[in-house]
Amino acid sequence: MPKRENISQLNSWVEISESNYAHNINFFRKLVGTKVELAAVVKANAYGHGWREIAKLAARHGVDSFCVHSLEEALRLREQGFTQDILVMGHVPLNRLKIAIANRLRLVLYNRETLAEVENIVKESEIPALFHLKIDTGTNRQGIDAGDLYYFLERFRQTTGLVLDGIYTHFANIEDTTNHDFARQQIQKFKEVIAQVNAAGFPAPKIHTACSAAILLFPETYFDMVRLGISQYGLWPSRETLVSYQARHSVAGKAILRPTLTWKCRISQLRTVPAHQTVGYGRTYQTTRESRIAILPVGYSDGYDRRLSNQSYVLVRGRRAPVRGRICMNLMMVDVTDIPDVRLEEEAVLLGKQGAEEISAEQLAAMIGTINYEIVTRINPEIPRIIVP
Ligand SMILES: *Cc1c(COP(=O)(O)O)cnc(C)c1O
Repeated sequence: MPKRENISQLNSWVEISESNYAHNINFFRKLVGTKVELAAVVKANAYGHGWREIAKLAARHGVDSFCVHSLEEALRLREQGFTQDILVMGHVPLNRLKIAIANRLRLVLYNRETLAEVENIVKESEIPALFHLKIDTGTNRQGIDAGDLYYFLERFRQTTGLVLDGIYTHFANIEDTTNHDFARQQIQKFKEVIAQVNAAGFPAPKIHTACSAAILLFPETYFDMVRLGISQYGLWPSRETLVSYQARHSVAGKAILRPTLTWKCRISQLRTVPAHQTVGYGRTYQTTRESRIAILPVGYSDGYDRRLSNQSYVLVRGRRAPVRGRICMNLMMVDVTDIPDVRLEEEAVLLGKQGAEEISAEQLAAMIGTINYEIVTRINPEIPRIIVP
């Protein structure tokens, strides 16, 4: 894990604020209480924040377990010594199920083929297979239809070593709207399924439904466990979620969540470009005056989206420096003409706060027609993540 002392040697890096992360986790722990399992979703390199760093902070600040997408993500956590429960929410190839079970992972179940394969594996193994049965309640993505429930329950009943460890569902339309009727319908459907599982006499599997938006808005979605993704990192799932939350809690304007990620780099060259010259590939920007241009060692291969060309700005000395010309693969150019005394290797902030200014994931997302999730998850995993106080 890269150390704080080494920041001076880096061209580009991501800082993770431990105090902000702890603040967010404490907020969610208060919200859900101590009886609900608080699972941190750390898929996609912990939403770009660095899976190793975030898993360490999560464990330190009272998260109970982890959710990931792939088997590989789960095995990496195990290799790093994380012994917490880990739910693998994505498909595990049939020929990898044995290793998944050997590592005592919780596996999502949504198809008969997986079940058939695991029935063979548990016959020859002492280690139980822990499944979380995923019910599709209207997203029409991954999951089984409620009508298939009895088929699966019967197989659990008949096979020793096959454990129904949990049952869950996922909402289709909780972030994108302030109208939550569809989410309520999904909860209703899911509750009917749970009633059937209870009636069939299964010993209390873990029941869960809630992603960040549901945790923030609907206590009735908590059940036994919540799957906290984006908001552990201090980001709102959407503007609609923020508006809905503020309407319910009359806390307009109050900073409830604290973003934990700051993406920084060092200016790698400074040059003076005369008036009426163009900057960069395609000559898309022309100076209107003699300009001081700073070259930054970050480009689209680092996850700084090329559609931000001539659109966004970075922060230098607490002020906005507009991006000039096209974002290149590994470099970009910004205008620091109006920021005095900028020096070589000085810090620039690509995402986050500097002084009184901030460039947020939501602002960058709005500039290119996407969501904050995509902005942070696409920061190249090779860029060092460094925990700061
Ligand atoms: C990614 C994911 C989550 C977390 O969602 P957030 O909106 O980031 O909180 C929860 N559940 C499932 C099934 C997911 O895939």
